[in-house]
Amino acid sequence: MFYKTLFFLLLSSSILIAQTDSGKANNSKFTQVTNNIYMYQSKGGNIGVVIGKDAIFMIDDQFADNIEDVVKDIKRISKNPIKFLVNTHMHGDHTGGNTYLAKKGVTIFSQENTRTGLEKMMRNRREEIRKTNSKNGKIEVTKPPKITLPQITFKEDLTFYFDNETIIIKHIPNAHTDGDVIVYFPKSNVIHTGDILFNKMYPNIDIKNGGSVEGVITALKDITMLANDDTKIIPGHGDLASLQDVKNSMYMLTFIYKRVMMYYRQNKSLEEIQAMNLTQKYDEKYTWEFIDGKKMVNIVYEDIKKQLGEVDTRTIEQRLQDKLKEAQKAKKKGN
Ligand SMILES: [Zn+2]
Repeated sequence: MFYKTLFFLLLSSSILIAQTDSGKANNSKFTQVTNNIYMYQSKGGNIGVVIGKDAIFMIDDQFADNIEDVVKDIKRISKNPIKFLVNTHMHGDHTGGNTYLAKKGVTIFSQENTRTGLEKMMRNRREEIRKTNSKNGKIEVTKPPKITLPQITFKEDLTFYFDNETIIIKHIPNAHTDGDVIVYFPKSNVIHTGDILFNKMYPNIDIKNGGSVEGVITALKDITMLANDDTKIIPGHGDLASLQDVKNSMYMLTFIYKRVMMYYRQNKSLEEIQAMNLTQKYDEKYTWEFIDGKKMVNIVYEDIKKQLGEVDTRTIEQRLQDKLKEAQKAKKKGN
């Protein structure tokens, strides 16, 4: 037993060393991806930080309440000012720092649907708050949130020439949302995927904001075509990924999608499909705080329902009875 524990301790310390070797900088929130590209992890989506000769290019900015810490941490690896920011999509864990950064003079870019989506989200939130405030008789008035919108938008692709690095920002239609972009560094062989990839985690797909499961599968396939075995892939959530991780996510999602689709076409209800435990072989690896196998099936089911319409979950007997009732009603009307 003692030896087992000792072995375990040795193993875990070697893992720690390995992590440092593989590029975790002194501050454990950073993973050094290349000479000048870092991944920053704390609350919310993974941030990409590109250190240029005299400026910093940033991808996503987590939340309003931790952006000051993010900026402080970045200052520890470079004194250069942050000049450009790309929002990979509209979600609050990727755009929350916009207001703070815009005030510091950072120029914010996004695909145009991300800007529209952010605007709509703030409008809805204001409306909700207005309703609650009037219910409260103005005793407790909550202030509506304000997120600074991207100042520059684009429809399809955008290319940045940042020192020696060409940065290609590519719009992926209807994947995690309707405004996703991936950020590709051909020279450094790095891709930031935004939330198209949740590495070793079941993905959240925002069907209400134009996302689609098939779109995510296609997008993951596109990323596998862009990448090779040496590509460093910064996912929206989870640790630094490889081409194989992207493939694994794509196979997992395709497996679940095909099966849920088949059972949906057989008029199975969500609960019936969830009870089948289709995700069993993936659950251990991909379950996390917010999404387990059942929730994943739920997301896929909602997506298919949006495409194909409601399923008819009545039994044959119920259907016959309903038909009979309809016929009787029609007869009465006819009389
Ligand atoms: Zn997201």
